[in-house]
Amino acid sequence: MDLKITFLGTGTSQGVPMIACPCRVCTSVNPRDNRLRSSVFIETENKKILIDAGPDFRYQMLRAEIKKLDAILLTHEHRDHIAGLDDVRGFNYFQEKPVELYAENRVIKEVENVFSYAFGEDKYPGAPDINLNPIENGEFLIGSLSVIPIRVSHYQLPIFGYRIGPFAYITDANGIDHTELEKLRNLDTLVLNALRPQPHISHFNLREALQVIAQVRPKRAYLTHVGHQMGLFEEIQPTLPSGVSLAWDGLVIHIH
Ligand SMILES: [Zn+2]
Ligand SMILES: [Zn+2]
Ligand SMILES: [Zn+2]
Repeated sequence: MDLKITFLGTGTSQGVPMIACPCRVCTSVNPRDNRLRSSVFIETENKKILIDAGPDFRYQMLRAEIKKLDAILLTHEHRDHIAGLDDVRGFNYFQEKPVELYAENRVIKEVENVFSYAFGEDKYPGAPDINLNPIENGEFLIGSLSVIPIRVSHYQLPIFGYRIGPFAYITDANGIDHTELEKLRNLDTLVLNALRPQPHISHFNLREALQVIAQVRPKRAYLTHVGHQMGLFEEIQPTLPSGVSLAWDGLVIHIH
C-alpha cells in the first residue's frame, strides 16, 4: 500500500506560538517551532482522508493546496479537533456532494450539537454538508480502504487513534492498554502525541511517548500535538532516539 502523509498541524490545543506568550519557543524564528493545531492528510491511490479538522482547518487546506477530500476521521470532540468543520463547504461546492465523516457516537452527537445549523430538519441553507458515519472499535471500510480504530484514553475520555495499513496516528492519548497496543505491531510509521517533558494529566509527556514507541517498535515515529514547553526543535531533536523525530508542519512522508 502506497501512502503519502502530510502533517498539516503538529501543535497542541493552543497552537505554537501561544497567544501572548513571550517564551523563546513562541518567539522562535525557526518555522519548525511554529505549529498549527494537529491534523494529518492521508493520500492513498484513490482516497484522500483527513484526521481531525481543528480551528486551523481552512488555512491548512489552503496552505497544503488540498483540492479534494473524501473523508474526515475524528479522534475526539475537543474543539482543537473539530472547530474547523464549517469550512468543508468549499469541498461540498466543488465536489458537489457531502463530505463523509467517521467518528464514534458520542463524538457525532457533539458535532451535531456544536454545528446544529448543519444537521436535522432545521438545516440552514448553505450550511456545511456532512454525512455522519458512526463507528465502533472495530475495522471499517472507506470504499475498499480498511481503517482500524485504536482505543486510547485521554485522561477519563476514551478516544480513537487510527491505523491504515502500516501507518498509525494517535493523538491526545495518555494511556493505551495492552490489547490496543497489539494493533500497533509491525508499523512502518507511528505518529504519537508528546506534549512536553513535564507530566500532564491528559497527554503523554515526552518520556511516556518514547516508552510507547520503544514497546511497539515502529520503523520510525513522529511526535505531534507538541506544546511550547517542549523546547526548541533544534535543541530537542538531537536528544531523541534514532528513528524518532518531532514532527513539524508541512512535513511530508511516503510509505511504500
Ligand atoms: Zn488536542
Ligand atoms: Zn510560549
Ligand atoms: Zn483533546
